[in-house]
Amino acid sequence: MTLDSKIPDGPIEKKWTNHRFNMKLVNPSNRRKYSVIVVGTGLAGASAAASLAELGYKVISLSYHESPRRAHSIAAQGGINAPKNYANDGDSVYRLFYDTLKGGDYRAREANVYRLAEVSGSIIDQCVAQGVPFARDYAGYLDMRSFGGAQVSRTFYARGQTGQQLLLGAYSALSRQIGAGTVKFFDRREMMELVVVDGMARGIICRNLRTGVIESYVADAVVLATGGYANTFYLSTMAKASNATAIWRAYKKGALFANPCFTQIHPTCIPVSGDYQSKLTLMSESLRNDGRIWVPKKSGDSRTPSQIPEDERDYYLERLYPSFGNLVPRDVASRRAKEICDKGLGVGKTKMAVYLDFADAIKRNGKHWIEEKYGNLFDMYHEITAEDPYADPMRIYPAVHYTMGGLWVDYNLMSTIPGLFVIGEANFSDHGANRLGASALMQGLADGYFILPYTLSDYLAKTKFSSLVTNHSEFEKANKSVAERVEKLLAINGKQPVNEIHKKLGRVLWDFVGMGRNEQGLKKALKLIPEIREEFWNDVKVVGESDTLSLELEKAGRIADFLELAELLTFDALDRKESCGGHFREECQTPEGEALRNDKKYAYASAWEFTGDGKKPKLNKEPLTFEYVKPSERSYK
Ligand SMILES: Cc1cc2nc3c(=O)[nH]c(=O)nc-3n(C[C@H](O)[C@H](O)[C@H](O)COP(=O)(O)OP(=O)(O)OC[C@H]3O[C@@H](n4cnc5c(N)ncnc54)[C@H](O)[C@@H]3O)c2cc1C
Repeated sequence: MTLDSKIPDGPIEKKWTNHRFNMKLVNPSNRRKYSVIVVGTGLAGASAAASLAELGYKVISLSYHESPRRAHSIAAQGGINAPKNYANDGDSVYRLFYDTLKGGDYRAREANVYRLAEVSGSIIDQCVAQGVPFARDYAGYLDMRSFGGAQVSRTFYARGQTGQQLLLGAYSALSRQIGAGTVKFFDRREMMELVVVDGMARGIICRNLRTGVIESYVADAVVLATGGYANTFYLSTMAKASNATAIWRAYKKGALFANPCFTQIHPTCIPVSGDYQSKLTLMSESLRNDGRIWVPKKSGDSRTPSQIPEDERDYYLERLYPSFGNLVPRDVASRRAKEICDKGLGVGKTKMAVYLDFADAIKRNGKHWIEEKYGNLFDMYHEITAEDPYADPMRIYPAVHYTMGGLWVDYNLMSTIPGLFVIGEANFSDHGANRLGASALMQGLADGYFILPYTLSDYLAKTKFSSLVTNHSEFEKANKSVAERVEKLLAINGKQPVNEIHKKLGRVLWDFVGMGRNEQGLKKALKLIPEIREEFWNDVKVVGESDTLSLELEKAGRIADFLELAELLTFDALDRKESCGGHFREECQTPEGEALRNDKKYAYASAWEFTGDGKKPKLNKEPLTFEYVKPSERSYK
């Protein structure tokens, strides 16, 4: 398949402006004639649905949650980036563009990243206008802090609850449209299938999770804003219900899946404490503004942290990366923490943790200052560990957190299926091989508020639509296949709980496709994953019925998809014989243990094409060219 990224011509700083002018518009009085389905009400979905409805389109918005406000975005803690340069510390659109491209280890498209940096300032204005209570300094100006991979302060925040406050803003905008009747919101609906008619995305099939009824929805275009797939790994920092079903179903209907192996492992999470754990908790990256990471210099040191004197501590990030220190990007900090623990220098009961210490910041600014900035995060840590992080350092370890991969989209955020748009974490567009902190919220809201409304309008204006009803044969076929799949899951009636099988998959992925990957391990994973899948389809026990609420049934369907996606993720990791960002191939590293890219062979986005169940997917490549930022070895020293 030839991949046309549709990047507009012209200098990078003019591309989006010119493109916006060249795109077709839909006359305001004609907009109500078009309908759009938006799946998902996280920051990407809620902002898109509200903006499209505000323009005048008829919008159908759906979520498997009972309220749009329950979307995973609400968990986001640390902040959102924008190069406002209020701190006068040298920030600019170009610097954010540069940092993001470099942070992603030169595996993202220049034009997309530049546009992201360009529109991000408007997000802050939009959210302030909505009443989002961003932190302010004493004079009343918006406050900012720093995140990894940047030497400026460009992260706007609302304590450790930025996602929640931004989502409340987007939710108010959405609610206004629901009240006005321009958005019809359907709660507790899980999209299980995409319907493609005459080669165009024209609808979806959902299961009503309360009643089990399989429902069909028709529209002129479909937008997936369904979030990331990090839960494939079982343990992650994501909301427990986050899953890949919507994008996976679209992939199996012809949308290409890009860079599935680019998963992000976040360095500062509360360490795993036991086998019964089903979820991991993030300690926001913002904490690295003031917390210092260290381990004892001596392995097996059993003294409490306060008993270990300064000269017997190794502040290893500050030692290895003097210019970025504790604020190196996530992939770098995670790998170093793993390496330190693998050497036996880890702390705590399991020895799989390092310290994140606030003693200096408390001494410098006082406990109250820390409480004001990070109070809710400290409370959360205390609730989970029963330890007091004001008195003793936090213990942290890397955990799976975010997925840079997702459905392939062109510059217009359209997938390889005409009429299927993909936004937010569900697409692959802007972060390359490693996302910098505070840039996912930026991307989701840029897509929803400022990019999709233009590009989707252009598509609607240029396309002729046949009128469709839900008894069209494609809808009936898709509806039947969803019902059969539900019955098939319930009929297995084996012995293993759904979670147990998911846990097995997670262990294989963490061990062989996790922070360090090598050819032998990846090949082993490719042998083990189909075996676990086989076990699932023969021996899983799904309790509940098809016509009532059944959390086990919901989970089973999602895990069936993870079991397929895990294999694609591994194929992709095996293909990419280089290290870049979150993808660390142990065979490819510099003598200092840094990621060693191979730009000659791998400067492409991999875009995988479904070729049939049980068949190896086909790899398509979108070459990445760099006109403005020359790829170099990524150094944070
Ligand atoms: C703990 C944590 C903290 C974070 N902190 C930050 C931060 O400080 N800054 C930052 O930039 N990023 C942060 N991130 C990342 C960021 O939160 C996410 O990338 C972002 O919120 C994703 O938004 P989204 O709208 O794309 O998807 P989501 O918020 O995941 O929303 C997905 C939506 O799709 C719906 N959905 C999914 N599948 C289906 C289906 N099949 N049928 C129907 N509905 C469906 C869900 O119900 C939900 O409404 C954090 C992530 C985590 C895990």
